[in-house]
Amino acid sequence: MKQKDISALLDEPACAHNQKAKSGCAKPKPGATAGGCAFDGAQIALLPIADVAHIVHGSIACAGNSWDNRGTRSTGPTLYKIGMTTDLTEQDIIMGRGEKRLFHSIKQAIDSYQPAAVFVYNTCVPALTGDDIGAVCKEAQQRWGTPVVPVDAAGFYGTKNLGNRIAGESMVKYVCGGREPDPIPDGIERDGFKVHDICLVGEYNIAGELWRVLPLFDELGLRVLCTLSGDARFREVQTMHRSEINMMVCSKAMINVARKLKEAFGTPWFEGSFYGVADVSQALRDFARIIDDPDLTVRTEALIAREEARSHAALEPWRERLRGRKVLLYTGGVKSWSIVSALQDLGMTVVATGTRKSTEEDKARIRELMGEDAIMLNEGNPRTLIDMVRDNGVDVLIAGGRNLYTALKARIPFLDINQEREFGYAGYAGMEELARQLCLTIENPIWEAVRRPAPWVRPISVPNEMKAIHQTGLTG
Ligand code: SF4
Repeated sequence: MKQKDISALLDEPACAHNQKAKSGCAKPKPGATAGGCAFDGAQIALLPIADVAHIVHGSIACAGNSWDNRGTRSTGPTLYKIGMTTDLTEQDIIMGRGEKRLFHSIKQAIDSYQPAAVFVYNTCVPALTGDDIGAVCKEAQQRWGTPVVPVDAAGFYGTKNLGNRIAGESMVKYVCGGREPDPIPDGIERDGFKVHDICLVGEYNIAGELWRVLPLFDELGLRVLCTLSGDARFREVQTMHRSEINMMVCSKAMINVARKLKEAFGTPWFEGSFYGVADVSQALRDFARIIDDPDLTVRTEALIAREEARSHAALEPWRERLRGRKVLLYTGGVKSWSIVSALQDLGMTVVATGTRKSTEEDKARIRELMGEDAIMLNEGNPRTLIDMVRDNGVDVLIAGGRNLYTALKARIPFLDINQEREFGYAGYAGMEELARQLCLTIENPIWEAVRRPAPWVRPISVPNEMKAIHQTGLTG
């Protein structure tokens, strides 16, 4: 990828901060890829496309570092779970065999698994030695008739966010527009019920949380043509150009996809979140507002009224237990604000939120929710987090799995919110799950037990008779 293409991706015109005098995303600082390199970001963004063979072109460590590190789920194919890599060795580099190995790897993947498509991810070593993965993919596609898509996101190009954008760029450039959506089956549409096609961009179906939201869309007659990329299929991504409206689910990471689909096909888009009752309702309202179908609007309001009433009743007992509890939220990107809103819904106080991987828009949303004085943690080393917890009387640390042991060693209640989490928190039903998990974490009797002084450091109480014997012995 050329430097000018990388700069263009970092200078996304749809980002709000680019409307100001000082434009462009923050420049990556040394060490910025510690939270994931561009390759990692690209692979994370596309790996949930379940019927595709994902080949990592590079040394084995790249695939090993990030393979399947998200708990994203599929309703059908499991091909995406199979780790494939060209496993380049020193000999391959010295002998210039990288492209040849890639070509044979693509053939092997197609012969062995008959995938809907093959995605090839570039990494640092072949990018530095100058392998032309675009040309190899083109040749392989012509030879075997299976779509082969290059994703040129070598790690040193930049951060995980940049990798997300490169992944989105590849989908728009090589995949979207490849086929037309299936016709709507007879008998579904009727007077007062028209089906509208939509897409969700940046929803990864972690712990199956997309499935908590899909029934709402079904009821409203909103057909999800594609989610980029949770539980998606290659053939669904090909139909994204026919969507009537796209929703950027929480993330600006793939904002370039929404913008390019708007430029090319005129598809409007908006940004929203499925975390928290208020945000779910807002997202459904935004769909109805932009589609502008009066019947849909009426049905949407009826559904929101019903679900909010049900959810309110279901959350009340949890709110009683969580009200006034303090939270330290240390997570990346969009969750830095979307979870804040969900926690505030539960009556909790968020004392600070992490913004290490957040965009300028994410930070603006945080200020909106938490006020201008919101504490934003740019650096979340273990000492900072522990001090913040102790100084502010925090009841629970909500963070990613890599902070788990920091919290446990400091005897701080901890809830995993990142990709390794085991519970889905999206949608109305997800909110109840979040409240339940928070209560289970904070009220767990283990915290009281582990904070008690160990038996061997307790003062020993000596019975009176023993004291008397002891004194007699001394005086006698
Ligand atoms: S792509 Fe580069 S930075 Fe990323 S894991 Fe591989 S070698 Fe490391």
